[in-house]
Amino acid sequence: MEKKTQSCKRLVLVPCPYQGHINPMLQLGTFLHSRGFSITIVHTHFNSPNPSNHPEFTFLPIPDGLTEHEILSGNLVAILLALNANCKASFQQCLTQLMEQEPQNSISIIYDDIMYFSEAVANYLNIPSIVLRTVSITNFVARSTVLQLLSKGSFPFPESMSRNPVPDLDPLRFKDLPISNFDTYENYSKLVVNLHKVRTSAAVIWNTVDCLEQSSLAQIQQQCQVPIFTIGPLHKIATAASTSLLEEDIGCITWLDKQSHNSVIYVSLGSVASISEKELAEMAWGLANSKQPFLWVIRPGSICGSDWIELLPQGFIEAIRERGCIVKWAPQRQVLAHDAVGGFWSHCGWNSTLESLSEGVPMICRPCFSDQKVHARYVSQVCKTGLQLENELERGEIERAVRKLMVDDDGKGMRERAKELKEKIEVSMKGGSSYHCLNELVELIRSF
Ligand code: UDP
Repeated sequence: MEKKTQSCKRLVLVPCPYQGHINPMLQLGTFLHSRGFSITIVHTHFNSPNPSNHPEFTFLPIPDGLTEHEILSGNLVAILLALNANCKASFQQCLTQLMEQEPQNSISIIYDDIMYFSEAVANYLNIPSIVLRTVSITNFVARSTVLQLLSKGSFPFPESMSRNPVPDLDPLRFKDLPISNFDTYENYSKLVVNLHKVRTSAAVIWNTVDCLEQSSLAQIQQQCQVPIFTIGPLHKIATAASTSLLEEDIGCITWLDKQSHNSVIYVSLGSVASISEKELAEMAWGLANSKQPFLWVIRPGSICGSDWIELLPQGFIEAIRERGCIVKWAPQRQVLAHDAVGGFWSHCGWNSTLESLSEGVPMICRPCFSDQKVHARYVSQVCKTGLQLENELERGEIERAVRKLMVDDDGKGMRERAKELKEKIEVSMKGGSSYHCLNELVELIRSF
């Protein structure tokens, strides 16, 4: 008798090839796999994830057509536009092959909103698709305003306007708007217009939590014709294996084990941001003079003009002795959940912000560009669980900020609010909004 091949639901996940996008997509994959779906990750060669960390997934690389020159330029806008132009044909070919190989399986696609070429391919092949948005809703709303201002030619705005509030976006000021300085305004508009186009996909998944973004969510719900699932924070929903592109230095956890409760400030500027030699020196002395222990991630290449820590000021390493630990890349989620960590100096990427809020860790916000400025303002002015360093970095101000965040009485309110917010986020996951959205999402995918 002929053996019957068992059919399954295969989900094809298309992450955008940057760390802050790969993490939530693989975490989502881990969750959906635990609910019985087969997971295939279709990824570019550029910044390809490590398949050996996820033996439960199938990985399919597609050519991305990026030139070395484009990659080395670091121009995110140009790279993302190029990926969308280059990957459509190869993705279509990859899916067609998959459908031929597994005719018994039904396929659905979940794609990062930046990889919008996926939607056109899904429509062409008649495959159901869902968008994953890995930015905050508040940033998405602010970007809509940026688009309107760009279309009116209002950028660049005069310096005198920079501290003015943006109408309807309180507490954002013009200087906080998520505008990219990687490329021309024209190219940035082109990218954002595509990200904001009305989608034909069946639903939108958002890596956020209702209690964090209630008013922005209500605004988006009015405009969106399809269900929105706010299922975050994804890193707590699915404790995936490492999703890091760089090797995590787990030695820093042993170092943290030796520090006392809530004493350490963790410092990291994420996977893309960089600082100047002058800023490095101010940060170094500010941290050293604060007398708090610190764990500092200095990513190779993140100090302009050096490979790693060669430009640290003379005498700094001797001054900090065992009070400081410097690594190239940390297991950040583990670090923020560690009992010894009491504060986070962050560039305020959305993942880092969510990771900090969900562990009840108050923040020093030092955004570098784009959405980071929105989140810094949001954490410091709306959640009130952090303080923003807005001026040129200066060691005295840094020292005072670290002490306020970690130990001084005038930072107590911030520390308490951070703990309260952590509890609210936990409630969302345990029977609250995120829990319900996850179940509804699974039902929707099963119905395809
Ligand atoms: N991250 C990490 N180790 C580090 C620094 C960052 O694992 O040493 C992770 C962090 O947990 C987060 C991601 O990298 O999930 C960075 O994403 P985010 O959105 O915060 O910022 P981006 O890198 O996109 O600017």
